[in-house]
Amino acid sequence: MAKQPPHRDPAQDAPHVAPPAHAAAGLPAIGHTLRMAAEQMSPGRVLATLRRVNQPDGFDCPGCAWPEPDKPHLAEFCENGAKAVAEEATERRITPAFFAEHPVAALAERSGYWLGQQGRLTTPMLLDEGATHYAPIGWDEAFALIAEELTALDSPDGAAFYTSGRTSNEAAFAYQLFARKLGTNNLPDCSNMCHESSGSALTETLGVGKGSVSLKDLYQADLIIVAGQNPGTNHPRMLSALERAKRAGARIVSVNPLPEAGLERFKNPQTPRGLVGGGTRLTDLFLQIRLGGDLALFRALNHLLLTTPGAVDEAFVAEHCAGYAEFAADAAELDRAAVLRATGLPWEQIEQLHGLVLGAQKVIVCWAMGLTQHKHAVPTIREVVNFLLLRGNVGRPGAGVCPVRGHSNVQGDRTMGIFERPSAAFLDALGREFAFEPPRAHGHDTVDTIRAMRDGRVKVFFAMGGNFVAASPDTDATEAAVRRCRLTVHVSTKLNRSHVVTGARALILPTLGRTDRDVTAAGPQFVSVEDSMGMVHSSRGGLRPPAPGLLSEVAIVTRLARAVLGPQDPTPWEEFALDYDRIRERIARVVPGFDDYNARVRRPGGFALPHAPRDTRTFPTATGKANFTVNPLTAPEVPAGRLLLQTLRSHDQYNTTVYGLDDRYRGITGGRRVVLVNPADAAELGLADGQFVDLVSEWTDGSERRAPRFRVVHYPVARGGAAAYYPETNVLVPLDSTADVSNTPTSKSVVVRFEPAA
Ligand code: SF4
Repeated sequence: MAKQPPHRDPAQDAPHVAPPAHAAAGLPAIGHTLRMAAEQMSPGRVLATLRRVNQPDGFDCPGCAWPEPDKPHLAEFCENGAKAVAEEATERRITPAFFAEHPVAALAERSGYWLGQQGRLTTPMLLDEGATHYAPIGWDEAFALIAEELTALDSPDGAAFYTSGRTSNEAAFAYQLFARKLGTNNLPDCSNMCHESSGSALTETLGVGKGSVSLKDLYQADLIIVAGQNPGTNHPRMLSALERAKRAGARIVSVNPLPEAGLERFKNPQTPRGLVGGGTRLTDLFLQIRLGGDLALFRALNHLLLTTPGAVDEAFVAEHCAGYAEFAADAAELDRAAVLRATGLPWEQIEQLHGLVLGAQKVIVCWAMGLTQHKHAVPTIREVVNFLLLRGNVGRPGAGVCPVRGHSNVQGDRTMGIFERPSAAFLDALGREFAFEPPRAHGHDTVDTIRAMRDGRVKVFFAMGGNFVAASPDTDATEAAVRRCRLTVHVSTKLNRSHVVTGARALILPTLGRTDRDVTAAGPQFVSVEDSMGMVHSSRGGLRPPAPGLLSEVAIVTRLARAVLGPQDPTPWEEFALDYDRIRERIARVVPGFDDYNARVRRPGGFALPHAPRDTRTFPTATGKANFTVNPLTAPEVPAGRLLLQTLRSHDQYNTTVYGLDDRYRGITGGRRVVLVNPADAAELGLADGQFVDLVSEWTDGSERRAPRFRVVHYPVARGGAAAYYPETNVLVPLDSTADVSNTPTSKSVVVRFEPAA
């Protein structure tokens, strides 16, 4: 039987600090995996559950979106995947008795870690207006209540429908259809806060807002540049792919303000070398760049390529690209001093990278939040594309763009239409298929939804999964905005902060997880997801659901739609709920690339979605070509006596879900309120290792935000920067501090000062 949840909420500001690790995974990963799984499940359940993760007849890991290899290993999961699965498959339960015992005000005093450890939600719960406790409510009553609030709105745009990346393709398609039939495009999603900058830059330059490489491409690459990403914690099975590429002769360059163990050495627990040997050294060249210096680095690289005879693939550029002349004219000159200031790198290292690029025919650039969460994120990613286009590294094996998605189906949700700025072509197809005129006015993304709640323009907030309040920037402003709502509704598996920061009325609708069996009157159902490389495959849970009467995401959306849109709405919501093949048939007629969906998704491993730049070197852009762009060199400006803070995850965390209080690769255990500062910067700022400080962010409008009591840890971060975990430091990220074009919060770029803690 699983261990009881922690009764006491452990202190989080007294961590133990040791030197950081220099290798990821290995035997310790197996130990931690089994220990954390055993906290949540009995041994038999641990084995029964973990053996089905990422298997053709099993379920998709609810963690990140890393793809499965053609032939999955017996244990095709990483330590953090196992933690995500264990947290969902836990035997701990939250019953109405729990809510009767805990008033919401008391739950709001608890940490996210403690809330998440209480177990799976089992019963629909209502926090009525003026009530102090959640109380049980029937499903039909819950849907009727939501219908009452939605129909009371002056306009459908008075509601917002948020999606977290765990939502399946089938539920996401039905959800966006419901929202659009209601009359709104207010469909913010977690992608707005993570890879929106990638989508914006890639759509403009290549015509497709997704990565263009497959796992096979990674194995064939000559050079892999990993920029602004920490795969050892956030996409751990990527290390296996990097190891395989390395063994095939690839060179690996990591560009990161922090020396991450997972990029240094990988001890693959699937191999003797990884279990008892020294593992595999991954990175050949580590560029410890200043926060936000990536645009300057790629501008310098492109300048060097342009000024190196024979380095440019002239034939590819002439045939497939537009805008080259303007780009080349602008990049012919380079302010080297500005590059050195912005990157903090010695010029020799940039030349070293240039040398590696010249020696490589097939180059892939992988990236994550370290590039996407800056004000100049979109120009940075455009410059990465310039770099790849110069030598024709798009649309051929072993080469291309690889934004690595952080949530298991965040890419699939977007493909299904979860987007506040849908294309006219998508709305036309949707309208044709369901015989209605979808709303055309663009809706609110995440940041705009918070503004709309703050300003009283959005009064009903509905979330399909996730932890909106904790994941969003500017925590105090976000919480105040949410509290202005008439109604907040969360479809969830576990308890989190968003359940205790509510509108006047609040509903918790407990749903099935990926690990749970989903059986309707038509028989067992499966869902499907799309991974970071555009592979669509099925996911079948096998565990008995945590409680009878729990509804799947699809059942919740379709019953809600019927309750709100009424019996006169011709959409066959009931058929959709009964048999998900009916949903997939519609998807096949609305979304390009899903023809014969039901047959192809049943194949082991599923199928690849088309990607014109990868498949045929055709670029569905405004010019019909791959677009070179001009991106003036810029980098964050940091006033004297301040540092630039980046928020990041610990190793015991997945997005805002905290599995434990350790970050063992960085040598930190038993606590989370730490701030990592370079010893030289600390000396200049008079910050002693172990000293407690308040972090105060300073925004351009003069406003300030405070995060109290963090322990200073002298750590080898790049000069001028600091690092601390979110969600604890999301309070420091101003709501209006967003990336140009994508409106993504600049969570990797927050100017802070340090004050002695009270
Ligand atoms: S790499 Fe990502 S998808 Fe794969 S098991 Fe780990 S967390 Fe899950």
